This record gives sequence, C-alpha cells and structure tokens, in this order.
Amino acid sequence: MANTCAICGATINVLQSQKLMDGNYICTKGCRAKGLKYYDYVHSDLDNVKDHIHQTEVGTKIWQDLMEPLKKTRDKNQKMQSFHPIYIAPSLGLVAVIEARGGLFNTKTYACVYRLENLQIYKTENMPARTSGSDKDKKCVHLGFVHTKGLNDVYIPFDDETRCHQCVDYLNKFFGLDDSFRSGIKKSVTQFKATKSMWDLAKAKKNGENLEEKAKATVDAFGATIIGDRTQFKDAADQALANYDLD
Ligand SMILES: [Zn+2]
Repeated sequence: MANTCAICGATINVLQSQKLMDGNYICTKGCRAKGLKYYDYVHSDLDNVKDHIHQTEVGTKIWQDLMEPLKKTRDKNQKMQSFHPIYIAPSLGLVAVIEARGGLFNTKTYACVYRLENLQIYKTENMPARTSGSDKDKKCVHLGFVHTKGLNDVYIPFDDETRCHQCVDYLNKFFGLDDSFRSGIKKSVTQFKATKSMWDLAKAKKNGENLEEKAKATVDAFGATIIGDRTQFKDAADQALANYDLD
C-alpha cells in the first residue's frame, strides 16, 4: 500500500515512509532528510515536523554564515567552544547542534541553532528509552530549550562519557554556577531584587495598579535567581539573528 508524503505530496512505499504520531506520513529521502537525525519523528505531529524543517533550514544557514567561520578565528573574544557536535559561541549568544552528512569530499553540514538564553536543561544522562541501534547504551548530553519550536529537547550521544561531563561543566562555569562565592553574591543580590518586586506586586495590588508589568518584573527576577542573568547573551543573539527568521 502506498502512502502520500504530507509535506511534498510524493507517493511513497512503506520503506520510504516515516509515520508520525498524528498518523501522517512523510517521505524519508526528501522531507525527513531536511531535519536532523536527533529529531524524534515518531512522537511528533506534522506541525512540529514542519517547524523542525524550517528550524534546520535557517539553522544551517546561520551555521554556515556566522558559526563555522569562528572555528578558525584567532580572536579570543570570538572563540567558539566545541563538544562536537555541540558548538557554543558566547560572542554570538548562540549554541548549535550539527550533523555532517556525505563523504569526505562532499560533506554537507546541517545545523539547529539556539539562543543560549533559552537553554534551561543541560545535563549528562542515559539516552532515552526509545533509542535504538548503537546509541542505545551511550551517555548523552541532554539540552532543553524554552521558547523554541521544532527540536527543543535534544539528546546528543557521546562515545566517551567524560566528554558529556566536560560539556556540562563548561556550561555551568559559563553561566557562573561553578564559583560558589561569586554565585552566592549574585544570588543574594537577585533574591533581594526578587523579594523587593514581590513586595512591589503586593503593594501594586493594594493600590489597584496595573499588575501585568509588575508581575512580569517579578517573574524575571525569580528566573534570574534560578538560571543566572542572561541579558548579555540575549543582546548578542538579538544582534546575530537580526537578519534570520529563526524565532
Ligand atoms: Zn516529502
């Protein structure tokens, strides 16, 4: 029995079909290949898959234009940190997950690019239970991004577990969470701000003021307490992504 690809309309047989959670099929050669292998098609619906394909299209362009050139930079301030296939570019406020395909002389690199400010989960884990094949028993770095469509919960398997820990350690250090003294000070300052804005919120309510803005400030202050202040990464990413339709 033949299926029809819900994206490009191609007629496909069972072997050429990827079934999605919502019952749709997409073609493996044309459409599924536009996304990364890290994407979990089986548990996704068509809208999400389309988001992921768009994300990969734009991400690949950003990787080529902005990030890959940084591999060779000698400028310390521009330096990109590599835990292949994860690349972290602080100067751009971006992180990329890449996948290289093809042979030695015709490699094409696909990428999903994320804002560092949206990185909420980063930890060493076992690969999820759904994993099959040679990655099944590997350790992985699990990256979770908020405010991100498409592939936003990413499991990157590593052959060498120490590499996972190095990546997570780097990110902890990067977000200022390794230095207990510094983060202690930072935390108490932020907590003070958070407490103060809670108090403002209560006061605003009493005075019948518009609560929306006050509430946002409160949430922001609490968010900063948990994940650190990421304003600088947001500014860098805003600038880097100005000409790209990523968000
Ligand atoms: Zn297709």
